[in-house]
Amino acid sequence: MDLGAIVSETWTELADERGSGNPARYIPALALVDPNKFGIALATSDGEVFCAGNADEAFSIQSISKVFALALALEREGPALWDAVGREPSGNAFNSIVQLEREKGIPRNPFINSGAIVTTDRFIGDRSPDEAVEDLLARLKRMGRDETIRFDPEVARSESETGSRNRSLAWFLADFGRLLNPVEDVLSVYFRQCALAMSCRQLAESALFLAFDGTDPVTGQQMCSASRARRINALMLLCGHYDNSGQFAFEVGFPGKSGVGGGILASVPGRAAIAVWSPGLNRAGTSLLGAKALAQIARRTGWSVFSGK
Ligand code: GLN
Repeated sequence: MDLGAIVSETWTELADERGSGNPARYIPALALVDPNKFGIALATSDGEVFCAGNADEAFSIQSISKVFALALALEREGPALWDAVGREPSGNAFNSIVQLEREKGIPRNPFINSGAIVTTDRFIGDRSPDEAVEDLLARLKRMGRDETIRFDPEVARSESETGSRNRSLAWFLADFGRLLNPVEDVLSVYFRQCALAMSCRQLAESALFLAFDGTDPVTGQQMCSASRARRINALMLLCGHYDNSGQFAFEVGFPGKSGVGGGILASVPGRAAIAVWSPGLNRAGTSLLGAKALAQIARRTGWSVFSGK
């Protein structure tokens, strides 16, 4: 199969639709990004990365970071993390607060904001917020095999300034006694984690461990056990796009995680990690063109977690 041709044909076929959807405006710094950006990167186990469009330009990964934060929090905390965060789809928006009271401060899953705030709290553990951010960045640089990966302080500041909803979620969690660290410490890490700037290429390379049972097939570096990687994939499939997760599984057929920066990271177990970027979003905060590109790649490759081939 000519994966390079599939990636570039997908890009070319959709290029006219650049600019579709609505970029996130509730984080003012994200509204400044050119809506016509469109990148695709597909990384395989032999170290090849097939790219098209703006695949080497760093963008704000936003909620895609929740996948890495989950893997690292599980590494620190082990399965005890699941006492604090559930594993069920929420059927609600990413920043919804309605289920938290009924569920006594235990968020439905680690990918909605409330769940990610708890995950980030456990990832910080007994360290200072700055130490935790340093550690996260160091791990991503190693996984992405790229020392230039950084977080964008402007985006972090912009999100913090307008972060009333995330503050509400965090204080609500604190009221239930669900956070181990002070609310503002947890949020300062959460906002910086969401403001990580990475390119499609860096994202796809960093996520190969998810598609290959916890181990990066290129470097041999083990990020987590095979069963943990499989479980993270399961959560991505069921919860990776909030109240749009069913639609994504239906159209694309492999695990993915979206971010309001317009990126989507997908893992195709045993085959590849794919990252796409186009800032215009659908109503659930998933990149409109990005999801279309992944659906096209799924169709052209025949890849699906449901195929058995
Ligand atoms: N940083 C964003 C927020 O907390 C992440 C949301 C997202 O990407 N879905 O609102």
